[in-house]
Amino acid sequence: MKNFGGHVGVAVFGALSFALTVALVTVISRVTGFNLFSLSVWIVIPAGAMITGAAAASGYYFGSLLFHTRPTWFLLVQVIVVAALAQLAIYYGEYSTLVLQNGVRVADRIGFSEYMDLTLTSAHLRVGRAQTDTGAVGSFGYWLAAFQFVGFILGGVATYFFLRRHPVCQSCSRYLRTLATRKQHINDNEVFSTYYDNLFKHPVDGPEFAEWLQYDPDNKQIKEGTVLATSTLKGCPHCKTQRIEQRVTLHGKKDWKDIPTLARNIAIPDGIDLRSVFKGEVNASRQQRAEPTLA
Ligand SMILES: [Zn+2]
Repeated sequence: MKNFGGHVGVAVFGALSFALTVALVTVISRVTGFNLFSLSVWIVIPAGAMITGAAAASGYYFGSLLFHTRPTWFLLVQVIVVAALAQLAIYYGEYSTLVLQNGVRVADRIGFSEYMDLTLTSAHLRVGRAQTDTGAVGSFGYWLAAFQFVGFILGGVATYFFLRRHPVCQSCSRYLRTLATRKQHINDNEVFSTYYDNLFKHPVDGPEFAEWLQYDPDNKQIKEGTVLATSTLKGCPHCKTQRIEQRVTLHGKKDWKDIPTLARNIAIPDGIDLRSVFKGEVNASRQQRAEPTLA
């Protein structure tokens, strides 16, 4: 296995996120009486379990980015095992820390499987806005636990696929780092299309590119119809090659909506460092001009 030390580091990160998540969920449930992972949408979509499973496996994601290890099938196995164990570990944490009002520790009186049976079948569902109590769920509790189990696994597996989708330098297979971000707000559609067509028309190390990239006419008057271009400069920490990922969103009545057809991903020629242009340190030749030259 290439980069063995890195894979060990990733495993340590994974173990840490697992332990932290289990401890946190157990403590929250002990203090507030609310079990975070039982949160569900329309009873059957185990949203809380998915989030908890993803949190438990998140160390694998961040560790992999840090140590530049690619997602292997072995990582997928670890992620699934950890997400599945998290549910059991949280139940066990609740069981071992539960003390009744008369001071009796539950773990001293009944076994874990008996406790689980009691807990799962006597859980109460609260449905709808009025939080109507449906009474004890009985054997349906096992089905709920099974749905949640699937949620944990899905949450864990999602972190694996996020990692697979993370941009990588093709030649050194390292994860790209985000170096800088630039946001541009444009209210006029015509102006936006001129901007969009011109930004990458010029060499990226020339003044025209810098001017277009730093052009942000309407950042103080965001309204319905404002177009926002977010450009992210990413770089390979090894060979220093850079690329620009651009996302375009449109402001609707309330929030921003993605326009996926306008997203683009531009490779920057080797040896060019655009960090200072992104940060505005290299200013285009004429400062504070209303609009860049329309080429
Ligand atoms: Zn590279």
